[in-house]
Amino acid sequence: MSHALTPLDEAQAFVLAGCLRNKPRILALDEALGCVLAADVVARHEVPPFATSAMDGYALRADDTVVAPATLEVIGSLLAGVAPTMTVGPGQAVRIMTGAPIPPGADGVCMVERTRTEDGDRRVVIEVPVARGTALRHAGEDISAGQTVFAAGTVLGPGHLGVLASVGQNPVEVYPRLLVGVLSTGDELTDDTAALEPGKIRDANRHSLLAMLRADGHDAVDLGIVEDQLEPIRHVLSEAAGRCDAIVTSGGVSVGDVDYVKVVLAELSGGSMRWMQVAIRPAKPLAFGTLAAGGTPVFGLPGNPVSALVSYELFVRPSLRQMGGHLELHRPQVLGVADEELRRRADGLLHLLRVRAWFGQDGRVHVRASGAAQESHLLRAMAESNALALVPDGPGVGAGDAVEVMLLQAGEMGPTPTGVAPGAPVP
Ligand code: AMP
Ligand code: MG
Repeated sequence: MSHALTPLDEAQAFVLAGCLRNKPRILALDEALGCVLAADVVARHEVPPFATSAMDGYALRADDTVVAPATLEVIGSLLAGVAPTMTVGPGQAVRIMTGAPIPPGADGVCMVERTRTEDGDRRVVIEVPVARGTALRHAGEDISAGQTVFAAGTVLGPGHLGVLASVGQNPVEVYPRLLVGVLSTGDELTDDTAALEPGKIRDANRHSLLAMLRADGHDAVDLGIVEDQLEPIRHVLSEAAGRCDAIVTSGGVSVGDVDYVKVVLAELSGGSMRWMQVAIRPAKPLAFGTLAAGGTPVFGLPGNPVSALVSYELFVRPSLRQMGGHLELHRPQVLGVADEELRRRADGLLHLLRVRAWFGQDGRVHVRASGAAQESHLLRAMAESNALALVPDGPGVGAGDAVEVMLLQAGEMGPTPTGVAPGAPVP
């Protein structure tokens, strides 16, 4: 194992190269939220499929209303979902509801508010002239037949699913959700919530990592805590390799560790596993390789909880997105403003500080360190952060200086975890 430092981009490139895009699968629309389309979707028919009324009112011939008010004979009524059987002739109108098909002969709709009925609804007085096309939704106005509705590579959100349903595209061909196994290694770890025995700590990583995976739209499988022994680690990893698309472990990959995870991974990967000391802090140690049987990628993350989560962000998340067919792999990164000085020591590493980021009045992203302590074993600053500030080697950045910010939760950009500005009264 080499102790030479690997630059971050080289480590990311190595990991990405081992995580090939999965095979597409046909999924029911309601199973496809968050998945990436594997093929263009072409509309089989127009949307709307026929001309409909945009209002409750009367379908009529616009020419009959040039001189208003105009009295027309009501020859029937149409509800949404009913095919018209009548044709609107000169001097005639049909009572029509929003979404009902426009009957043949009609070329406009007068909203009901501009009408009154006479003679027990047998006649209607149209109070204003109705221009041709008024309150009509034309066939194909939204989508025309044969049109590419969404191109391959589109990430399916709720709106996309609705559109696909409206053109009858169900099921749909997508890159499926990944099944990702998570295990923790370490004899000191326990999941028991009873009083801790001496020397034991509770397993934090597995719970965070399972949640990260689920938040990213994957199916996460809990592979439990595995003791620092060759046989149990070998057993869990080989069993998981058979059913998981990828495996994430934490612990046991640092330089000083008892080598169990490293030994087993070296063995199961047929030598493809690479141990890296990435030139970053936290999350310096990283193991990555693909298992010889089936090519399942395995990420060996460091045990320190903050390191594990930062490592997930930098290496696991983009790789799994690539496997899932995503074209955009990385979190958004912007040049923000440090609202307070972000000190660090020069050590040849890129520092990733856990920060709170929010949009200032100036429209720029501002950051503050989340929690005074940035040590990699202190998880609370990580929990309170929504971004990482990328502080290059040197003494750090001063208050008011520009700093690169990776946004981890672009949807949660309040200045504090609760979204309330420091010192502001809670509403
Ligand atoms: P390791 O990478 O195994 O050397 O672990 C580094 C540090 O992280 C040690 O202090 C471990 O006790 C701690 N650690 C390892 N795994 C976990 C975990 N799953 N949850 C919380 N702390 C952990
Ligand atoms: Mg350990």
